[in-house]
Amino acid sequence: MTHHRIVIVGTGFSGLGMAIRLRQEGEDDFVLLERAGDVGGTWRDNTYPGCRCDVPSHLYSFSFAPNPSWSSTFSPQPEILDYLRDCADRYGVMPHIRFHTDLRVADWDEDSQLWRIETSQGELTADMLIAAQGPLSGPSYPDLPGLERFEGKTFHSARWDHEHDLEGERVAVIGTGASAIQFVPEIQPKVARMHVFQRTAPWVMPHRNRPLRGWERALYRLFPPAQLAMRAAIYWARESFVLQFRRPRLGKLVQNVALRHLNTQVEDPALREKLRPSYALGCKRILPTDAWYPALVKPNVELVTDGIREVRPRSIVSADGSEREVDTIVFGTGFHVSEIPIATRIRGRDGRSLSETWDGSPSAYKGSAVAGYPNLFFLVGPNTGNGHTSIVFIIESQIHYVLGALRALRRSGARTVEVRPEAQTAYNAEIDHMTEGTVWVSGGCKSWYIDRNGHNSILWPTFTWPFRQRLREFDEAAYALGAAATEEEPLALAA
Ligand code: NAP
Repeated sequence: MTHHRIVIVGTGFSGLGMAIRLRQEGEDDFVLLERAGDVGGTWRDNTYPGCRCDVPSHLYSFSFAPNPSWSSTFSPQPEILDYLRDCADRYGVMPHIRFHTDLRVADWDEDSQLWRIETSQGELTADMLIAAQGPLSGPSYPDLPGLERFEGKTFHSARWDHEHDLEGERVAVIGTGASAIQFVPEIQPKVARMHVFQRTAPWVMPHRNRPLRGWERALYRLFPPAQLAMRAAIYWARESFVLQFRRPRLGKLVQNVALRHLNTQVEDPALREKLRPSYALGCKRILPTDAWYPALVKPNVELVTDGIREVRPRSIVSADGSEREVDTIVFGTGFHVSEIPIATRIRGRDGRSLSETWDGSPSAYKGSAVAGYPNLFFLVGPNTGNGHTSIVFIIESQIHYVLGALRALRRSGARTVEVRPEAQTAYNAEIDHMTEGTVWVSGGCKSWYIDRNGHNSILWPTFTWPFRQRLREFDEAAYALGAAATEEEPLALAA
């Protein structure tokens, strides 16, 4: 059976970033497990029309790999995917990737002190497991009565069926989140009729996307510090958004901008009313777009706010009894964020899966380590999400922290590293305290930031710079370092 020092799950921003930094630190004995045939994670899977990052390009990239060639201030999905492919290639990660290899089970073997990993391509073992599959990897499908009897076409926004031509069709779109607001305006002109089923109206802000001019790109190429300065300016400007989340009264000012946007773009008072959110701005993700409302006012589009009672073989019946015939249903219904599929597959020292341990409320120390699961680190783990800035900033903070853990292992000659339960408990009590009074719990909405137990297990509930500060040093005192390594070769990372 093959053994590797490190096995990384996933090749999105997290997995690739981790692999690149490992190589840069001289560690070569690692593999990345990738269930698909290409890198890119969520930016490979989400190919729906109009898919684009809603965080500015200069910030939504690795700090060590700036890209002067972005075509616009907010990059389209194909460019981000190309960027990730290029990074994987340029930094020598490709030979480490095992494509079409799905992790089925990872069991911690206490006797041998390693992970026993079963994949769709066979078994392997590893000293260290790094879960970098991300929280947006498992699409969530709604449980609609009668859906299994529907005879038309259905697909999820994260599994867009490009073979299926929507031209002239009657289409139902379920969901009005970050994905739907991007693809609805793109498909509206080609469909005969579109019924958009909205459960909760999102807060929508004007969008500031624009093409980057030739001279800007030339400047960034010839003088990289200019792009770094832009990145820093964007970072700090977006950090200020946190104020409105932590002090919901400040959010009222921003709410007025959003309401003006709605009132300017939608004339019909009845439609406006349906589109006016009934909770505080920021409670759910704020969506930047200039195209959403104009698409909804088109004559071939209907916004349905009655719930769905039933799906019939060729139609959808809403709560008021109206029946709408449809050819295709597109689910823009998001992801299993707090019930991540991999949690059922990772089993710790006592044989319990993470999902059993978490019981619907994921929890970790610094979003990275879980007591009872030695030599396991998460990237974008519990309480690392945010609603205002680039997740790549969080990812790089965590990669730095994991490298610190690997150095600590090397320095001490230890074989295992496991967070102490009391450190994890204290850390999470602090997060709970930080979450109190924020818009996410007091804003009057139901969002996927709050799990089924009513607990914030998703968001890092404040500015991101304190997160980076906390992960700057690997705090060995919070961990138990186990049994000295025998004659085995130590990790290559320098102490
Ligand atoms: P989402 O934000 O979770 O939105 C899902 C939508 O589906 C919501 O409107 C939700 O309604 C609705 N929904 C879910 N289950 C439903 C049901 N059973 N019946 C009726 N409606 C239902 O998902 P998403 O739009 O795919 O976005 C997920 C995340 O991906 C975002 O928050 C963001 O982090 C990321 N994302 C980013 C970008 C970007 O950068 N541009 C683009 C897309 C996605 P409720 O609101 O009532 O729950």
